[in-house]
Amino acid sequence: MATNLQMRALSGRLCSTSAGHNGKRIEIYDGTEFVAETLLPTVQGKYRVRAYRHSVDGWRTYTEPSCIMTGNPEGCEAVPLRVHDACFTSEVLGSLKCDCSGQLQLAMEYIQQHKPGIVIYLQQEGRGIGLANKIAAYALQEKGLDTVDANRALGLPDDCREYSSVSNILRDLGVKSVKLMTNNPRKIRVLERLGVKVLERLPCIVAPGALNVHYLATKRLRMSHLLEGEGSTVDDDQDKEELEGQFCHWNHDGESALSSFVEPDR
Ligand SMILES: [Zn+2]
Repeated sequence: MATNLQMRALSGRLCSTSAGHNGKRIEIYDGTEFVAETLLPTVQGKYRVRAYRHSVDGWRTYTEPSCIMTGNPEGCEAVPLRVHDACFTSEVLGSLKCDCSGQLQLAMEYIQQHKPGIVIYLQQEGRGIGLANKIAAYALQEKGLDTVDANRALGLPDDCREYSSVSNILRDLGVKSVKLMTNNPRKIRVLERLGVKVLERLPCIVAPGALNVHYLATKRLRMSHLLEGEGSTVDDDQDKEELEGQFCHWNHDGESALSSFVEPDR
């Protein structure tokens, strides 16, 4: 556990007060705190990795966003940025049901080739519902429910991700504007509402494989993701639908895990 001396609050709003051990009231803030930075050598080259802690409930719970950087984006305009939500099943286990791992690799390579650049990695597995709930939803999808109905059957929201840590981290670095690596127009709108200046969108296209081709098509059709050079505008009805949560980002297509297993090409 880092000491308070190591932490630096970047932004925050007063959430509540509670009694400290000496009887004094102490103030509790939401926000994002910088913890430490290291230089990490990887097979793709060296990355600056900055660790943060982030809370939206007055520090009863917190997540640990990391900011992976090449070069010195501090104070820069038009910095390439990928805001990436964690996907254990794809990134660690190599699941073929989605394209998350490929998108992360693409972004990491891109910022090596286009310095300075940033990947902000957020612990928001399964649209924020967590890994165990995501696996539970997969299990229901094997029984035929689609991704939205599976979440609802579990009493979970369609999407509970939030991105205030991104604007806090960019403010910490003094990044003035970004070029966002995404196929998801909702992410652009959400970040803009948080005050992030998005100059342009950099498409993040991973070639579809046998198992995720349906998933990618679903993202395009149901979640208005932009694939293969499509325009970046979305009509108002779609926008409204998304804001009301009628979309998803990880429809892992409802196939039975057993019947859909194939040996990947080597
Ligand atoms: Zn995924």
